[in-house]
Amino acid sequence: MLIVEDEVRIARLMALELGHAGFTIATVATGQQALVEAHTGHFDCLILDVMLPDLSGFEVCRRVREMGDTPIIMVTARGQIPDKVAGLELGADDYVVKPVNTEELSARIRAVVRRRPRGAIYSSTIYTAANLTLSPDQHQVMVNGVAMALTPLEFRMLEHFLSRQNRVQSRQALLDAVWGVDFMGDTNLVDVTVGRLRRRLRGERADITIETVRGIGYVLRSTRP
Ligand code: CA
Repeated sequence: MLIVEDEVRIARLMALELGHAGFTIATVATGQQALVEAHTGHFDCLILDVMLPDLSGFEVCRRVREMGDTPIIMVTARGQIPDKVAGLELGADDYVVKPVNTEELSARIRAVVRRRPRGAIYSSTIYTAANLTLSPDQHQVMVNGVAMALTPLEFRMLEHFLSRQNRVQSRQALLDAVWGVDFMGDTNLVDVTVGRLRRRLRGERADITIETVRGIGYVLRSTRP
C-alpha cells in the first residue's frame, strides 16, 4: 500500500495505524515520487492526498489510472461534493475526508482491494451480453474479442450487472454487492462508478447500456438483439 501525503505527521500516523491494522505501507511526499513508485513498485492500493506540493492528487490519479487498475483512495481536506466527485471521475475508487478515521479508511481499503477469495469453487461461468463477455475466473472482459481493462471495482460492478441483466438494481443493492454489506459508503459512489463504467463501455463500443431508473437505481440491457 502506498501513502502519498506531504504532511509528515499525518503520513506517519496513517502508516502507523494502517500498519497496526495489518497493511504493509510505503509512504512518499510528492506527486512525482508517487508516479515513480507507481511505475516501479507493485501496490495493491494507493492512498492519495489531493493537496500535494507539486502535482495535484487529481493529476496523479489520472496518470496512475492510465498505467493500470491499481485501486486509488483519494484523501481530501475539503469535504465538498465537487472535489470528491472530481477524483472519482478521474478513476479513483473511493475517497475519505480529513481528518482520516483509520477504521473507516481500513474498511474502505478492504472494499476496494477485495478479490475473489482464494480456493473459491472453480466456476466456468462466462457472462455474455451482446458483443461483450466477462470471465470472472480469468478476471477478463472482452468486447468484440478484444480485452478491456477495468479497475477491480468496475469489474465487480459489471459482473454484478451481467449476472442480473434486465433486472433493476437499487443503489443500495449495488453498494452491498460491489463494496460489501459492511461498507458505510454513500450511494454517490455508486452513481459515479456507474457513470465511469458507462463511459468505458461506450468507449469500447460495447453494445450494452446501463440505464438509469429514476429514484430506484440502474439496469443493464443489450442494445442489440
Ligand atoms: Ca497535503
